[in-house]
Amino acid sequence: MADRMAPFDARQKKLRTRIRQAKADALLVTNFHNVTYLTGFTGEDSYLLVTQDSATLVTDRRFTIQLAEECPGLDLVIREPGQLMLPTTCEMVRDHGIERLAIEAASMTVATQQAIAEKLEDVNFVLDVGWVEELRTIKDKTEIEATRLACWQAAKAFEATRALMRPESTERQVAAELEYQARRFGAKRLSFPAIVAVGPRGALPHAPPTDRRIGESDFTLIDWGADSGLYASDLTRMVVTGRLSPKFEKVYQVVLEAQLAAIAAIKPGANCEAVDKVARDVIDAAGYGKYFGHGLGHGTGLEIHEAPRLARGQDKVLLEPGMIVTVEPGIYLPDWGGIRIEDDILVTKTGHEVLTDVPKQLEDCCLDL
Ligand code: ZN
Ligand code: ZN
Repeated sequence: MADRMAPFDARQKKLRTRIRQAKADALLVTNFHNVTYLTGFTGEDSYLLVTQDSATLVTDRRFTIQLAEECPGLDLVIREPGQLMLPTTCEMVRDHGIERLAIEAASMTVATQQAIAEKLEDVNFVLDVGWVEELRTIKDKTEIEATRLACWQAAKAFEATRALMRPESTERQVAAELEYQARRFGAKRLSFPAIVAVGPRGALPHAPPTDRRIGESDFTLIDWGADSGLYASDLTRMVVTGRLSPKFEKVYQVVLEAQLAAIAAIKPGANCEAVDKVARDVIDAAGYGKYFGHGLGHGTGLEIHEAPRLARGQDKVLLEPGMIVTVEPGIYLPDWGGIRIEDDILVTKTGHEVLTDVPKQLEDCCLDL
């Protein structure tokens, strides 16, 4: 049991260093994903107070069995029915003798902060601007394995769904099939609602699925991912079900070349803007620069979009071993469609490893219906 909790102990230890550096006595973790990251607990409505020598979760009766399974040994303050979150939390802060309390600026509401301030007049607040989020950018072994599994589940779901695609299948049906297949291969759910965009709808980088049918166009963009329990994967592939036009072929090769070049640039020490630029330069040189209107990629993890971002303006952020980022260049031509190719890449000590294994050469896109 001790072993299973070891990654969480290690994460809490790193956080304590950060709390000390900020000269705070404790951090009140209110972001649900951050609570999960630090404890393994996947329920909601619970706050975690991390001091230099303790970590205590304020939760309620609904979660006692789940807590015993997910994080045995964690100190708990269990609210009884009618016992409210805020007063219970304040009492705990007072019991620990905390004078400087760090709060998560990104998740705590102003109303909550003011209510705590009223109840605990002697407590000074320290703003935590993404401390846990920063720790989350570097994945440990268990996180990498969970992501690997999510990538595998996504690949299997796509393979099965692709085989079932028919000219009369609608975008919605393909999206539903992906979800079903991902679950069949053990995923908890898709990591976000799948994007299935037939033909011109692919020009919207985040097209919600409609009743448009696969057979209405020559190609379809599919962006999906699996959630293996806690960790997410995120891929995009093109499926050509009709005529393979010279235009498709040309644009596809540019996107693929941009993606492969950017992946090749991923290694420890590479800056996040420079990696984006590698892909952007390839697309610019081909004359499609203004049709690539988003950043190259993002971190994945407990959430589908995490730090770091591979994008302009991120030149101060350097890649480190253990980071997992997507690389997803795209070219979107209004009234014609969009082509995007997306994979998940682990930064390793010596370079990188592509975690997603779905064929993506031009011929791999073609599907005989
Ligand atoms: Zn995606
Ligand atoms: Zn993505």
